[in-house]
Amino acid sequence: MMKADNVGVHYGAIQAVHGVSLEIKAGGFVLILGPNGAGKTSFISALAGIVPCSAGKIVLDGADVTHVSATRRVRLGVSLVPEGRGVLKGLSVKENLLLGWHASAKERRGSFSTGLGEVTEIFPRLSERLEQDCSTLSGGEMQMLAVARAMLARPKVILLDEPSLGLAPLAVKAVYAALRRLSELGMTLVVVEQKNVPITSVPDRTLVMREGEVLLDMADGRPSEAELAELYLGGRR
Ligand code: ATP
Repeated sequence: MMKADNVGVHYGAIQAVHGVSLEIKAGGFVLILGPNGAGKTSFISALAGIVPCSAGKIVLDGADVTHVSATRRVRLGVSLVPEGRGVLKGLSVKENLLLGWHASAKERRGSFSTGLGEVTEIFPRLSERLEQDCSTLSGGEMQMLAVARAMLARPKVILLDEPSLGLAPLAVKAVYAALRRLSELGMTLVVVEQKNVPITSVPDRTLVMREGEVLLDMADGRPSEAELAELYLGGRR
């Protein structure tokens, strides 16, 4: 469904991503792990079109989208939930969701109330807080709002940058339970994390990145805590 082929990302002279390839299958769940500065955010930003590729190619549903803008990619079905969640404080939960709906392609989005019904079924906590200013939400609720907002754009794939960041263990569990539900409903997910979060679903692909490169590309599972520590610390290069 979406494919990255040898993608490179540069910021001036700094190369943040070196030739990363990934195939994302429809309905799949891809996990990208790596320590600080590994290039994870840069890579998914390139998938979303927020930063340009300095090398390689990105293909969505068979079409080359390497040079397609981020806005157009949202319309084509690629939604990014950025680190820090990107919800607009000062706006209510419902207003944030409305912004997500507006970002979607008109021909695919259906009515706002239908979309709202769908996301509040998955995130019932949000339905009790629709009029609440989102700055007063808990971290876990805010993360759920960010995912719900991305869903209202009717994406084919959601890219999530460190959804567990800054959350208490129980909130991490709740967020991942919601992601699991999305996955079961057939949503395609690409999740970036630094730590091996306590997820119950088995990723169908796990990439481990460090210093802009892929150190491990694993099908049907993820590395153990010990393997991950070894990779992060520089073994097996
Ligand atoms: P983290 O887990 O800490 O968010 P990451 O794996 O997502 O890290 P990136 O944020 O992609 O890593 O950063 C990769 C490298 O690119 C780092 O060395 C970082 O300093 C550099 N970098 C990222 N954004 C920029 C930018 N806008 N300008 C210059 N360098 C950047």
